[in-house]
Amino acid sequence: MTQLIDISVVLHTGMVHWPGDPSVAITRTSDRARGDSATVSKLSMGSHTGTHMDAPLHFFRGGKGLEEMPLEATVGPARVIAIRHLRWITPDELRSHHVRRGERILFKTRNSTRCWKTNRFVEDFVYLSTEAARFLAARRVRAVGIDYLSVGGYRERNGVAVHRTLLGAGIWIMEGLDLSRVRPGRYELICLPLRVRTSDGAPARAILRPIPHVGRQQ
Ligand SMILES: [Zn+2]
Repeated sequence: MTQLIDISVVLHTGMVHWPGDPSVAITRTSDRARGDSATVSKLSMGSHTGTHMDAPLHFFRGGKGLEEMPLEATVGPARVIAIRHLRWITPDELRSHHVRRGERILFKTRNSTRCWKTNRFVEDFVYLSTEAARFLAARRVRAVGIDYLSVGGYRERNGVAVHRTLLGAGIWIMEGLDLSRVRPGRYELICLPLRVRTSDGAPARAILRPIPHVGRQQ
């Protein structure tokens, strides 16, 4: 049995979110502990919080929402690539990993071990340079994932360019992954965003299944 690795972050009240986006509040509207007949909660959060996906609609008027995403985009073989650069992901570093057409690629940067420890927004997280986004668009990868809240930089302010480049090339974007417990390599990915109508973004559960080693012949 191979073990499944959960690469989603736990949603909770007061957790980190993109500056200016709605905060997260999960409250009980009824509670067995208070004598109600059942426990029920109200979830309130922005659509780009925690582990989530972006749809073309996020940056293109009339673009596709996540409810229209083909499930194959984020279910299937994937590769986790370790990014060494401490500031951003560059085309040079991507080139060394021989990124191929149709690949699902998750970038494990230092964000995974650094950024999720705090509920405060980390401004200098590792992100894609605009050139790296163009490189991925030209290579026609299928889906990309990053281990913090955006594929674009906060201080660099290249988020619009990076998102438009990727989404415009038909690349589906996973954000807010936690890859701290994942070694670089090949996996089976299952990442499923909630099916919300005309969704610019939606929370997702993301899982990796290690690909079992083929037994060596004696
Ligand atoms: Zn995004």
